[in-house]
Amino acid sequence: MITVRALTKRYGGVLAVDGLSFDVEPGMVTGFLGPNGAGKSTTMRMILGLDRPTSGQALVNGRAFATLTEPLREVGALLDPGAVHPGRTGRSHLRVAARANGVSARRVDEVIDQVGLGRAAGRRIKGYSLGMRQRLGIAAALLADPRVLLFDEPMNGLDLDGIRWIRGLLRRLADEGHTVLVSSHLLSEMQQTADRLVVIGRGRMIADATTDDILRGL
Ligand code: ADP
Ligand code: ADP
Repeated sequence: MITVRALTKRYGGVLAVDGLSFDVEPGMVTGFLGPNGAGKSTTMRMILGLDRPTSGQALVNGRAFATLTEPLREVGALLDPGAVHPGRTGRSHLRVAARANGVSARRVDEVIDQVGLGRAAGRRIKGYSLGMRQRLGIAAALLADPRVLLFDEPMNGLDLDGIRWIRGLLRRLADEGHTVLVSSHLLSEMQQTADRLVVIGRGRMIADATTDDILRGL
């Protein structure tokens, strides 16, 4: 699970995250909702140890990311689909990631199946649609089969089929007992996706309740 306590991040004069506290429990999909600039990515980066809190804590299974002994086996993430070599094939990208992290080559084929990359896995990433890039990023996050998964705006720019596919995947992962945190700036994406919503604005907590309760309160 994920534990966030009085988490704060200041960039110069900007309080990107301002005293956030919440838990993310296994076995359900937790949506992380807020407008662009609310502090969702910064929070996720701190959970992943990619950014250091100004104060407060972000813990995975009770420990700060930097102190996890096998971080990729505990937490996987889809962040900005950035660091890929466009000239590589999807499969070769995943093989490199697997090798770097002690994951078997056989597992690469499993995640390719799991995300439905199919024959695109043998093509160069530069020809991928946004949906295919999202699937590839999700495959990388699933490689080491971590119990905790973070997805930053995974539905951004996808068509309805892609959104439905991601919804189904998140549901299966939660049903298997994973801890799933998924961010979005659109309530419409989250209302059929998340069991619970953590809603933030300007780095601060606005609401933390079941999606049903939040929708009833609107
Ligand atoms: P969200 O993911 O909800 O869109 P972000 O976490 O990306 O929000 O951003 C929160 C705030 O922090 C914004 O005001 C953004 O401009 C600022 N911010 C994020 N990263 C940096 C950075 N590396 N340097 C300076 N400001 C940043
Ligand atoms: P590098 O520092 O050279 O990027 P890493 O071992 O950190 O090497 O990462 C190798 C691959 O694993 C990269 O493609 C990266 O995107 C992916 N990766 C790294 N951390 C994570 C994570 N927490 N979840 C999913 N994929 C990750």
